[in-house]
Amino acid sequence: MAWYAIILCGGSGTRMGAAQNKVLLPVCGKAAVRRAAEAFVPLVDGMVAVCRPFEQDAIRAALEGVELPVIYAPGGDTRQSSVYSGLQALPEACDRVLIHDGARCLVDGNIIRRVMDAAERWGAAAAAIPVTDTIKQVDSGEMVVGTPDRSMLRQMQTPQGFHRALIEEAHRQAMAECFTGTDDAALVERLGRPVKLVEGSRRNLKLTTPEDLTMAEAFLRSDGAADRPALRVGHGMDVHRLAEGRRLVLCGVDVPHTMGLDGHSDADVAVHALMDALLGACALGDIGQHFPDTDERYRGISSMELLRRVCGLLNERGYAPVNADITIAAQRPRLMPFIPQMRANVAEVMGLPEDCVSVKATTTERLGFEGRGEGISAWAVAMVEKRQRVRSCSFHPDRVS
Ligand code: MG
Repeated sequence: MAWYAIILCGGSGTRMGAAQNKVLLPVCGKAAVRRAAEAFVPLVDGMVAVCRPFEQDAIRAALEGVELPVIYAPGGDTRQSSVYSGLQALPEACDRVLIHDGARCLVDGNIIRRVMDAAERWGAAAAAIPVTDTIKQVDSGEMVVGTPDRSMLRQMQTPQGFHRALIEEAHRQAMAECFTGTDDAALVERLGRPVKLVEGSRRNLKLTTPEDLTMAEAFLRSDGAADRPALRVGHGMDVHRLAEGRRLVLCGVDVPHTMGLDGHSDADVAVHALMDALLGACALGDIGQHFPDTDERYRGISSMELLRRVCGLLNERGYAPVNADITIAAQRPRLMPFIPQMRANVAEVMGLPEDCVSVKATTTERLGFEGRGEGISAWAVAMVEKRQRVRSCSFHPDRVS
């Protein structure tokens, strides 16, 4: 059997009070629709994401890297027409279909498997939960006209699963009769065919209001499934010896001095510390690993160019720098006049505003090797953010193994 999941991504953010589509809202740092889609990955052969054309790029970005073929289909004006559009996009080989709301981001493999097993046997199946509140039927004046026996009521969820031919027939018939249902099972019911309900979960809530988002995040945190924090911090430190006949380059600025820093590259000690901080924040090792000083390609290379490559490595892995703070310890020369240019250089390469890059200089009161003018040291801390979407980057670092 070839199972496909149709994920409906057309939700608006109106009741959520959000400006964007609620399926794109981050839930513990990950877009709701991605959480939903990932639950299906081990169980189905492919996926159809139904979304409004103007949101397709954003949905694509949210689903980037999901380990399944994803087909994109345009959404319709109603939920039902969106499902129909998704059905039409299914590949020929598909003969079983799961339909799921992208805003039900906490669906799990157990629920999906129960729906698949029951749908296989009955032709149509859906996740549902018992009703715990008493339900009243009212008239247009809010007067009670009846109290249905709640033990026989169920609250419907998705996924809902079907034999493909059955759900296609149900949709065609509903369309021919201008019938609109609030779920897909209703269309199968109208054909007089059985629909089997299986156990859903209270966790399988649909993000509708801000309270739902709070609950979804609380569920994730309570079982430790929340993602690691999106912000990470790293630290770097470097020392270079001062030598005759070398340039003194700090944060890309040629600082006039009687001596310069010795090293394989331009020996920009401040940028070296910064690169180690950035790599450290992402646990990507250190610059010695990425740009070994035994490699002739890096002889005399500008450390600003290496910084550009480090930012490329981060970007490839979905991290972006947030801010950085560098301290340079040098007895001489006086660095203060060069600091604005240092900050501007680093900010430009990191793609940050200048007020997110700090460079500070200190002496060591003539103590230690810096104080004796034998060398210069630098420390840096940097913060990076894990992004949902890897920002486009024109730079492709050559991998140094
Ligand atoms: Mg170094």
